[in-house]
Amino acid sequence: MATLKYLGATGQVTGSCYLIETAHSRVLLECGMFQGDAQTEETNRRPFAFDPRGIDAVVLSHAHLDHSGLLPRLAREGFRGPVFATPATHDLIALMLKDAAHLEEKDTEWENKIRRRAGRPAIEPLYTFEDVETLLGLRQPVAYDVRYRLSEDIEFRFRDAGHILGSAIVEAWIRRNGSTAKLVFSGDLGNKDSFLLRDPTRVEEADVVLMESTYGDRDHRAPGETVEEFKQALQAAARSGGNVLIPAFAVGRTQEILYLLGRFYQAGELPQRAVFLDSPMAIAATAIYHDHMTLFNRQELAELHRADAANLLAWLPVLRTSRTPEESMAINQITGGAIIIAGSGMCNGGRIRHHLKYNLWRSEAHVIFVGFQGRGTPGRALVDGARRIHLLGGEVAVKARIHTLGGFSAHAGQRQLLEWLRGFDSRHSKVYLVHGEPEKAEVLAGRILDDLGYQARIPRLGETIDL
Ligand SMILES: [Zn+2]
Ligand SMILES: [Zn+2]
Repeated sequence: MATLKYLGATGQVTGSCYLIETAHSRVLLECGMFQGDAQTEETNRRPFAFDPRGIDAVVLSHAHLDHSGLLPRLAREGFRGPVFATPATHDLIALMLKDAAHLEEKDTEWENKIRRRAGRPAIEPLYTFEDVETLLGLRQPVAYDVRYRLSEDIEFRFRDAGHILGSAIVEAWIRRNGSTAKLVFSGDLGNKDSFLLRDPTRVEEADVVLMESTYGDRDHRAPGETVEEFKQALQAAARSGGNVLIPAFAVGRTQEILYLLGRFYQAGELPQRAVFLDSPMAIAATAIYHDHMTLFNRQELAELHRADAANLLAWLPVLRTSRTPEESMAINQITGGAIIIAGSGMCNGGRIRHHLKYNLWRSEAHVIFVGFQGRGTPGRALVDGARRIHLLGGEVAVKARIHTLGGFSAHAGQRQLLEWLRGFDSRHSKVYLVHGEPEKAEVLAGRILDDLGYQARIPRLGETIDL
């Protein structure tokens, strides 16, 4: 017998977690965090549906916290097996999980202050820096395209998913009752039109496919349009004489933006003379991208070589990085002509809030949104046209021009998802849609039935299937 149990990312995007059980092994595919409102995040505190000490190994598709974020808790509760991921993913989780632990410890401290005053019992952080250190000691890198024997009855192989650096599609061969079943987990599938990374690998054989469905209901804008809009927004900012603020996630989006700004610079089309990367986390992530540049898309890598640029910093020579709070505050003296990239991507934390405070009320300033803005965040309010917003304990008038560029996405759109599924030569494989809101997964299931002629299923949380 061999089974797979759905423990997260079913009917929702976050909390990726699947338990594979065979006669000889218990393997966790992903151990992600649930992200969203307070109630959703409470889920992260619930007891695991399995004994962490009884898990033999973890196979991880990529570093995003909705896939990796509960790994330190797994270690805290006794898991001591290997964590398999690509070398780049291992470098990125070191950065991201340490940051997550830091935030978790800070949030808990804050929460406990409130609880003490209300006479309620204190809570423990989900995990600490120490738990992260324990977990990081369990990392075992496996390169792309190498078939790895995990146990007596499970082998797996990572294939490039082109989603963020190091991201993988997981192929797994599972032996049961004398025959082998092949499971293919898409991980998060990259957008073919995005920059820097390769296209998702086409896989041709599977008995069971788990595919993400984040954008199951629509396609993204064409990349050419987005690049053109971006260029025009920068030119408009140069004409008005103000600063340009770009709120961006530290891993992935920031590096794509740096690449594009470099492309404008190299073509003599970047009007701004200073670009600040004001985020220690994004600076560290960019260094990891540099360490693994051989994973970049061939076209962009060739472009960098042609310009004799050893990395993104050389590709964009007007880039300055600011690590310390003092360096960050010094940027506030600049009232025009600069591009400032900082996190968080949705403006609900991080240094971008300070730059917004100094620039939003200026009519000559421009803010360019390059990523998804969740409900209830300051970023969403700005995108929706708010005239004033609350920031850092005060109210700020919004006079700056707000641009929303819709074409950047690290996920495959509907057409690309269908195309990837079409690559499987067997029409007998069972397809399950995960990692998507129910309405989006259902739209995609409808398209699969219409275009490919078979029924894809949307599993329920806690459901177990036979492999
Ligand atoms: Zn992801
Ligand atoms: Zn994800």
